[in-house]
Amino acid sequence: MNGAASGWIDPATATMCPLEGCAIVVLGYGNQGRAQALNLHDSLKAAPRAGAGVRVWARAGGASARQALRDGFEVIDTAALGTGDLFLCLLPDEVQGAFITETLTPAVRAGGRPGRIGFAHGGALAFTELGEHLRRPPWVETFLVAPSGPGVDVRDEFAAGWGVPALLAIWHDQSGAAYDRALAVATGIGATRAGVWRTTVAAEAAVDLFGEQAVICGGITALLRCAYQTLMRQGYDPEMAYLECVHQLRLTAELIHRHGVAGMRERISGTARFGDLTRGPRLAEAGVARAMADILSEIESGAFMREWQAEVRAGSPRLEAWRGGIDQDSMEMVGRDVRAHVLRPEPSGGRRSGGSGVSGEQGESR
Ligand code: NDP
Ligand code: MG
Repeated sequence: MNGAASGWIDPATATMCPLEGCAIVVLGYGNQGRAQALNLHDSLKAAPRAGAGVRVWARAGGASARQALRDGFEVIDTAALGTGDLFLCLLPDEVQGAFITETLTPAVRAGGRPGRIGFAHGGALAFTELGEHLRRPPWVETFLVAPSGPGVDVRDEFAAGWGVPALLAIWHDQSGAAYDRALAVATGIGATRAGVWRTTVAAEAAVDLFGEQAVICGGITALLRCAYQTLMRQGYDPEMAYLECVHQLRLTAELIHRHGVAGMRERISGTARFGDLTRGPRLAEAGVARAMADILSEIESGAFMREWQAEVRAGSPRLEAWRGGIDQDSMEMVGRDVRAHVLRPEPSGGRRSGGSGVSGEQGESR
């Protein structure tokens, strides 16, 4: 925690002044990279800071590089990395370590500028060797500004004049200015409008991984599948099972997002509320709390990250096996048919992320 207590950062202290003279390089132009690059660009356009600007590094010839160019950004190649004053590492977590140690660090050293870098998630810092690497020269500032939402929301909320909340933490602060720089980035991407919570990198890394594993990704999908299969086994139509247990999740998620759990309960039928209160807890009693505690301790001990690194090194066999099985999976097959039947057609094949680009052009959806 570097001595700092956790808590909301006073929005009145939000400023982009510490970005003055900063040649920002956004590394990667995917979900977060595109949203953060566009937001920072727009913020600096609205309140210019002398010498500050945003450029993008993305793999030569890749889809991201093309998208960044279409959006009007200058896309730099690896040889120009040494001209950056502040890097925002928005590459996939599993490639950050190799890219930074093998490509970025030598470039920063050769460029002779102070090494400053920000992340949007602390998993690689807290649980891999990258963390120690970024506490040594040429690195002087390593921080985290982790939006609590997907890139599409980071951009859409910003475009609507608001922002997505974020967690802010400092990992390495040799310059004494890491906090100011991190807050400036949080300001530029719009997060301070919504709220920024000060924490540690270790806490963000554990809580983010736990949340996606136990609830918002892993927990929800396991629950949906279990419910779908329970109804199927009893001979109910799979289409009905899908509509009830999967399709309608959106309503609950949106109500909880906007009004909290109690607020959601006030807005559903009395029957649903009674069933929720009396039946829901029985699911948690059936071993869920124990499993959640195990999942969290695997994260905290680094065991999860070691397992994920081994999976990546082996060519992601478990992810590939899952992908290979999608077309034979009952819930996926039924879901495809049901969605094709009931969802309002989208005008251009999907929701766009990003809004208008730097040059005013419209990019394609990712
Ligand atoms: P994406 O997968 O959307 O973006 C990946 C980017 O990195 C693309 O530009 C891609 O380029 C490039 N890339 C992929 N593989 C390589 C490689 N081997 N070498 C070089 N470049 C590569 O990442 P996210 O935006 O989802 O995640 C970025 C960070 O943000 C992560 O730390 C994540 O935890 C964090 N985060 C993500 C959230 C989200 O909205 N998804 C939410 C909050 C935090 P190309 O087109 O060339 O493949
Ligand atoms: Mg995450």
